[in-house]
Amino acid sequence: MHIISTPDEMTETARGWLTGGTVGFVPTMGYLHDGHRSLIQAAHAECEVSIASLFVNPLQFRSHEEFLQYPRDLEHDLQLLSEEEVDVVFIPKTEDIYPETFSTYVTPRGPLAERLEGAISPEYVCGTATVMTKLFHLIRPDVVYLGQKDAQQIAIIRQLVRDLTVDIHLRILPTVRMPDGLAWGSRNQQLTPEQRQQAPQLYQALLAGKAAIEQGERNIKRLQEIMRAHIAKKPLLRLEYVSICDPDTFVEYDEMAENTLITLAAQLGSVRLIDNILLLKGSQWHI
Ligand code: AMP
Repeated sequence: MHIISTPDEMTETARGWLTGGTVGFVPTMGYLHDGHRSLIQAAHAECEVSIASLFVNPLQFRSHEEFLQYPRDLEHDLQLLSEEEVDVVFIPKTEDIYPETFSTYVTPRGPLAERLEGAISPEYVCGTATVMTKLFHLIRPDVVYLGQKDAQQIAIIRQLVRDLTVDIHLRILPTVRMPDGLAWGSRNQQLTPEQRQQAPQLYQALLAGKAAIEQGERNIKRLQEIMRAHIAKKPLLRLEYVSICDPDTFVEYDEMAENTLITLAAQLGSVRLIDNILLLKGSQWHI
């Protein structure tokens, strides 16, 4: 496993890849778990070269304090990456990605950028688009591996790839869940035992929405009500939104359509959790 920590070495290495076959890239903010592991395993299995990045992106946090509080454990991350036989790990320093003179940002617009996560944190949208653009230029991957868990991030990157004609293929893998249904997340470990016990209710609410749709419910307001009622059963969960929308544009639906994303966010103490399920053409559920 080769560790690269400077943009210059990354660029040099990426140039050498031109002859080496398909390059699969897994961007992460570290504190790796089984969700990341599934992306890394797929990159390793499907590409000649696999590369993961560990970079906590300060641009996508609402405050410097939040950025500092993000969990980090480099030793554990390197151990997991070496177990999965990743070829290259890119661990840039913040000041190398964003030097003092840095002044060019990628700023998505429209409902995708302004609704849900974008309404709560415009920094998240612009920060994600900007760092991905930089990482794609530095690493020059053929395939980028992303998890379904971050549905809005996927849509933002998909739009970015289209709009800026970036020559990469996006490979989206299912959300990896713990046995009780809670999606793996780097911040889960910050939950108290009582909060942790209530956290799977997010997934239960999504499943209740799915069950109602399968029983023929088509009314968006009623579906949202069903899911809100589920969340309300757990007093520690503070629901921020539950949205039924187009998975590409994030425009809210008036009625159910063939491709539908059901996504929600809730605060649990100081931890913010997001989750979603996706219904695609042919009544195929991605949960
Ligand atoms: P992060 O380190 O949180 O920025 O996530 C890096 C990548 O891992 C993103 O593409 C996420 O969507 C993906 N990811 C995070 N949690 C999960 C999960 N539970 N299942 C699948 N992918 C995940």
